[in-house]
Amino acid sequence: MQRWALEQRATGRRIGCVPTMGCLHEGHLSLVRCALTRADRVVLTLFVNPTQFGPSEDFSRYPRTVERDIELCRAAGVHAVFLPQAIDMYAADHSVYITEERLGTGLCGASRPGHFRGVCTIVAKLFNLVLPHVAVFGQKDYQQAAIIRRLVRDLNFPVEIVVAPIVREPDGLALSSRNRYLSADERRRALGLSRALRSAQEALNAGQTDGAALCMRLREVLTADGLRVDYVAAIDPDTLEPIAQLRKGVVIALAAFAGQTRLIDNVALG
Ligand code: AMP
Repeated sequence: MQRWALEQRATGRRIGCVPTMGCLHEGHLSLVRCALTRADRVVLTLFVNPTQFGPSEDFSRYPRTVERDIELCRAAGVHAVFLPQAIDMYAADHSVYITEERLGTGLCGASRPGHFRGVCTIVAKLFNLVLPHVAVFGQKDYQQAAIIRRLVRDLNFPVEIVVAPIVREPDGLALSSRNRYLSADERRRALGLSRALRSAQEALNAGQTDGAALCMRLREVLTADGLRVDYVAAIDPDTLEPIAQLRKGVVIALAAFAGQTRLIDNVALG
């Protein structure tokens, strides 16, 4: 991978990288299209990274659709798919990790200890292998994107980070590889996440400015929809700290379980 990347760089080509865990959907492909506008060669990495899954999470059953993913990449104009095996990425005595110590403690970091350590470590490794000039991530994983920006800034990676908008189903559900887990009933309930975010925007439009009160209200809405709430937060878009006063630009982020499936979504209030 690195040799290929160095060859591209030697001929003056810009490399774009789209890191994914595969089971590709239109959300991933939107990142590819974004990367194609900013780079001469686009590499999609496809790796279900074991270090970002907790012991009781879905690593072993995470959906894997490699043949189809490669076809989708071909059709989308991806120049290279990097598809390492876990054994290639992590030596048996691998012992170096990267930990972000501020942005990653709350929200998903609180309920998924070690998750962002795994994410930072694999992203740093992928950057060292793919040597991209630009890397594209989705706003769907809002906290992850903020942490990666911080990783790149604090460790001086020479990589431009671009964050692309959330792609949704026509009814509002954010696309996710994990949507495959949902039964028909859970799929219906899962709509509660995007509905809650829409009602947050409506509340701001109607003059609601109390962040905590809004979050309480959204929890009730999600629970009434048959979802088990992990968190609902009104946060500063950069620091990810909870904010008391709602205003334009504040991000509402939430995570909830539909059955056993944990789903996340967010919106930047307009
Ligand atoms: P994943 O394969 O779930 O690790 O996601 C790989 C990348 O795709 C991450 O940067 C995600 O934020 C992004 N992504 C996932 N779902 C969506 C979506 N619905 N819209 C836009 N980007 C997404």
